[in-house]
Amino acid sequence: ALNCGIVGLPNVGKSTIFNALTSAKAMAANYPFCTIEPNVGVVVVPDPRLDKITNFVKPAKTVPTTMEFVDIAGLVAGASKGEGLGNQFLGHIRSTDAIAHVVRCFDDDNVVHVAGGVNPLSDIDVINTELLLADLESVEKRLVKTEKVAKNSQDAKVKSELSALKKLQAVLGEGKPARVADLTEDELIASRELFLITQKPMLYVANVDETGLTEGNEWTAQVEKRAAEEGSEVVRICGAMESEIALLDPEERKEFLSAMGLEEPGLNRLIRAAYKLLHLITYFTAGVTEVRAWTIKRGTKAPGAAGVIHSDFEKGFIRAEAYHCDDLFTLGSEQAVKEKGLYRSEGKEYVVKDGDILFFKFNV
Ligand code: GDP
Repeated sequence: ALNCGIVGLPNVGKSTIFNALTSAKAMAANYPFCTIEPNVGVVVVPDPRLDKITNFVKPAKTVPTTMEFVDIAGLVAGASKGEGLGNQFLGHIRSTDAIAHVVRCFDDDNVVHVAGGVNPLSDIDVINTELLLADLESVEKRLVKTEKVAKNSQDAKVKSELSALKKLQAVLGEGKPARVADLTEDELIASRELFLITQKPMLYVANVDETGLTEGNEWTAQVEKRAAEEGSEVVRICGAMESEIALLDPEERKEFLSAMGLEEPGLNRLIRAAYKLLHLITYFTAGVTEVRAWTIKRGTKAPGAAGVIHSDFEKGFIRAEAYHCDDLFTLGSEQAVKEKGLYRSEGKEYVVKDGDILFFKFNV
């Protein structure tokens, strides 16, 4: 499963947010939940559409889809030089698919700030510099090898790798993340073998206090400005409040949220933003025994989507009966969807859309 790593300086609220995320058990009573390793959590992806479909179909059981978060503690200034447990942490980040970068945007005299005061932009620079330096080192090491190989090779793959490495070296050398390098398709493929950290999609999590949540504050304004320049997204969260919300039972939670004037926990926004960052979308299966949400990569065709349920579904794929959940919501029943001609039969080339409700026909 694809996952999102949570990074940031010490004491910015990473563990608080991670722990609140993984007590999502409380958020979704009766849903399967587990922690794989102490720092890896499986989190339910909150999706109001799933609840709506459940109301229509009234199945025996409803199963949401999930994604993974990884808490990566211990990233400090100097990590790329091996400070702290630097290299080990960088290794953990390398194996994630996307990054949520937590930034402290709250003031609290009881919580020590590692750099002396709240300054999100300087915190962002410290972390991003470590990640850039780690990538630059990977690129330069590889460049030495590839240049040697390229001397005696006409192989197109080697050439793409060499040109990718040179472009990446230049971009990283200017202090910019690898994701902004202008790589061709072949260069991009070649670069993937390096597992560069700054090539992964990233969003910022502004950890604020309660007042900063809706209004923002001077620090969130700084982070939002920076993020806009980079084309990244910012999710505002109050870690301390989320950890309280996560402990409440569903009724209490509703009351708490409405008293705060909130529609849903901030974590829901974070989970959905991370899901989107990973280019993931959801389709549904809706039968009387089970209504269920399934995760696929955007762009997946119908057989691949079937394969997420079972490899036999993909091997024996014949076609998919398909309609969109929005049509069900507006028209009110599957029958009405059929009468409008919106219930279709789709073949192998059909690219599944976010919110599709699918029923697969396959050979066994
Ligand atoms: P980490 O080192 O980044 O994992 O940070 P922690 O999650 O351990 O948090 C560091 C300290 O900040 C703890 O004492 C938390 O209780 C506190 N903290 C986390 N989030 C918030 C927040 O939103 N507001 C306030 N006031 N304190 C927070």
